[in-house]
Amino acid sequence: MFHATGRAAAPATDPCSRCDLLLGLEGVRVEHVDRGARVMTVTVSSADGSAGCPSCGVVAVGHGRRKRMLNDAPGTVRVRILWRQRVWRCPDPDCARGVFIEQLPGLVAPRGSITVRAIDWAIGQLRREHGTIAGLARQLGTSWKTLWRAIRPELERLAADESRFDGVTSLGVDEHVWHHVDRRRRGPRELTGMVDLTRDEHGRVRARLLDLVPGRSGKAYSGWLVERGDAFRRGVRVAALDPFAGYKTAIDARLDDATAVLDAFHVVKLGTQVVDEVRRRVQQATLGHRGRKGDPLYGIQTILRAGAEHLTDKQLARLAAAIEADPAHEEVFIAWQCAQDLRAAYRAGNLAEGRAIAERLADSLHTSPIPEVARLGRTLRRWRAAFLAYFTTNRSSNGGTEAINGIIELHRRLARGFRNRDNYRLRMLLIGGGLFA
Ligand SMILES: [Zn+2]
Repeated sequence: MFHATGRAAAPATDPCSRCDLLLGLEGVRVEHVDRGARVMTVTVSSADGSAGCPSCGVVAVGHGRRKRMLNDAPGTVRVRILWRQRVWRCPDPDCARGVFIEQLPGLVAPRGSITVRAIDWAIGQLRREHGTIAGLARQLGTSWKTLWRAIRPELERLAADESRFDGVTSLGVDEHVWHHVDRRRRGPRELTGMVDLTRDEHGRVRARLLDLVPGRSGKAYSGWLVERGDAFRRGVRVAALDPFAGYKTAIDARLDDATAVLDAFHVVKLGTQVVDEVRRRVQQATLGHRGRKGDPLYGIQTILRAGAEHLTDKQLARLAAAIEADPAHEEVFIAWQCAQDLRAAYRAGNLAEGRAIAERLADSLHTSPIPEVARLGRTLRRWRAAFLAYFTTNRSSNGGTEAINGIIELHRRLARGFRNRDNYRLRMLLIGGGLFA
């Protein structure tokens, strides 16, 4: 039977096997259940048995019990485990051990106050349910500090497992800012993140954050690649990146067998920026002031930024009218066409066709009389191989890395910021799927 609260409890010598089953903790049996409105307290003890002295091996004699309160994973109410821990005494007068206390590592760490399964539960909540340490600590009835102190070693152990780097054939890199306070207090604001972009058997990318290292530089990336060892570096076939020369240098120096791929989204963005710049310059030159309401080029900003394939007839007509309003607007139109050509290369259903468009752009834009377009052309020429690699690596991109950055940002907000970089790394590795938890 289930031992109810408030009534005469069943004697401790008559444990209920159904309660043991319901509790589901191995190695202990339920002696008593006290179910309050907000907290359920389950009294447990280990099964009968004997113990040998850890020092001399002599069979120990019982020396009473000690009550120890543990926080367990909650159900509909908070659960506390009252463990009547056995105390033993070594009977050998020559042994220095004296008294010792039983340990059940499957239940709780020697000096812990949170059960092993509650720690697992909390890690699962952090990993998959957008949990926060503060919220989980509240549910467990413990403090932020106590819970984090219990979780941290587990995450450190998972992070130290080098097998999590196995099988990476596609690697992304990007940086993000993790704090805005004084660098002297918290170190560099930027972190470089490495993301596993390897496709699964269905060809889908399941982005996984592999690591975060301080700084935003080729050196940061390069140092991390060296640490991973030869086998890891030889395994990487595709290395995606945004147009940042530092990371490109690291890829060229450390990943001999990999093809660097410039991220498609960023290339398209460079094109859109050129249109914006040309529009602003032309506007200033023709009107003598920055664009304002009523100016022909001002009202079409959004139209200029969109893909032509998304524009309605009405929008196309507005675009045409704005361009025709002044012969000087022709430059804007040409820049817009270049940006649309860039998009078209990526949108082409056929990779060979897309590559042909991309090659033409990489070989011609730098000769444009429009300075902004020419500058984009020089960038594409400088990044030519990485730009064209998109079309020979089955559309590899750094998109998965961007997605991970989005998750990181969300969790940084949920946690209301982080003060400690090591804690930040562990938490982000966990939620970014980088730990086998
Ligand atoms: Zn002993």
